[in-house]
Amino acid sequence: MATISIAQVDPRVASFIGKPRKMLINGNWVEAVSGKTFPTYDPSTGEVLATVAEGDRADIDLAVKAARKAFAFGPWRKMSPSERGRLIWKLGDLIDEHVEEFAYLESLDNGKPLTIARAADVPLAAELFRYMAGWATKLEGNTIPLSVPYTPKAKYLSYTLREPIGVVGQIIPWNFPLLMAAWKLGPALATGCTIVLKPAEQTPLSALRLGELIMEAGFPEGVVNIVPGYGETAGAALAAHMDVDKVAFTGSTEVGKLIVQAATGNLKKVSLELGGKSPNIVYKDADLDLAIPGAASAIFFNHGQCCCAGSRLYVEKPIFDKVVEGIAENARKIQVGAGLDPNTQMGPLVSEEQLKRVCGYLDSGLSQGAKALAGGRKRGEKGYFVEPTVLVDATEDMKVVQEEIFGPVVVAMPFTDPEELVPRANDNIYGLAAGVWTNDIGKAHRTAELINAGTVWINCYNIFDAALPFGGYKQSGWGREMGHEVLNNYTQTKAVCARVA
Ligand code: ADP
Repeated sequence: MATISIAQVDPRVASFIGKPRKMLINGNWVEAVSGKTFPTYDPSTGEVLATVAEGDRADIDLAVKAARKAFAFGPWRKMSPSERGRLIWKLGDLIDEHVEEFAYLESLDNGKPLTIARAADVPLAAELFRYMAGWATKLEGNTIPLSVPYTPKAKYLSYTLREPIGVVGQIIPWNFPLLMAAWKLGPALATGCTIVLKPAEQTPLSALRLGELIMEAGFPEGVVNIVPGYGETAGAALAAHMDVDKVAFTGSTEVGKLIVQAATGNLKKVSLELGGKSPNIVYKDADLDLAIPGAASAIFFNHGQCCCAGSRLYVEKPIFDKVVEGIAENARKIQVGAGLDPNTQMGPLVSEEQLKRVCGYLDSGLSQGAKALAGGRKRGEKGYFVEPTVLVDATEDMKVVQEEIFGPVVVAMPFTDPEELVPRANDNIYGLAAGVWTNDIGKAHRTAELINAGTVWINCYNIFDAALPFGGYKQSGWGREMGHEVLNNYTQTKAVCARVA
């Protein structure tokens, strides 16, 4: 695999990562209180890519104080909703003006193909801010007619106000670093909250660059604070902080449970977008020209590092061999390489830890009797590459069928009829997403209704839009991201009741 020097391709990015990056607190770029830094790695080589200030409890504390001050006393709360909306819109436009730069940062730090970051991650992030900008002026309450039995002659004017929840802690993962920052920041800004954002330690760079654009857009100091650092230190301190009113987390279900426990101190509100093991169902009447590449992309997009990846593939028996061989063929053809290489279709996994985790699952599946129709192994000596893998001959009790692998590994299993299929598809602790492929419109919608998941895609997969809510049933989470539903995560309702006669 060819090594590409970033200095050759984008000097702005080279200069950004060439200097140790600081954290954003109260509008200033500062070192960690401890003076410590941590490295972020290029997953295609395993070499250090950049050095970043390592936030910890003390930095989180300073950031929360700045956010509290900005919420209680700053100009932010006094701004009109329209002014707030315009700032958020401007941030979206600034992202668009820096698409190339963000695409390079994302590709280098996370490993994803530059072409994907440029076409998906960055424009979706810009669009999210523009969508949320519109909501700033539309956070309406209700007027509510009362019928109070013990004051029959009285008249009341009652209404609700939707108020920002306050200081928000946001902890995000490494699979879509910029986009996850946008999903979190957009609605918190639209509702008038102030924020302490902790990016994932594997991929802090794009959030830090975004912080520069946030200041350039003109957000008042302290409204957005960005503290990079590790989960067990900076993340845990943020989740437990007694002056944080709400914590929003995206990541593993395991850590989600720790967040819930950490939040009990001051009973801060919690929203969670967690893991998944999504069933992707192909009926025998599906259009296979759509379903085969669709099911391949459902698992292989972003190297399978998607919480909603279609990782349990259920195919109706008469077409099982054809579909699975088609997906295996697709897997074998995927160009695996460094994200910056223009021929790359799948980059490395994000970290050595993820590589070990995914390879551990491959070993487990193969040793329990599953067979790899394509892939099944680590690839190359350098970097964190793994082969796109299709497993067959698996049984429902295997770990590879039950647990989230978070890598490019699909387990394909046949089914005979919908009656048998639905309980199997629902037999999992997760309920994030599902796919259904069929030309029978009634069957498609009936299946969508029966599947316990927050999103069901019919004859498509991985379709995201800022207007479409996303989130999990069961252990896949609490609350929704995006759409107008996410605004509930960041507002609280005040009922006002006035006696008028
Ligand atoms: P993964 O296992 O895929 O790396 P995690 O759920 O561990 O995903 O990480 C998602 C985010 O949660 C990251 O920003 C990480 O730093 C943070 N995190 C990890 N552990 C904790 C913790 N104990 N408390 C708070 N945040 C954490």
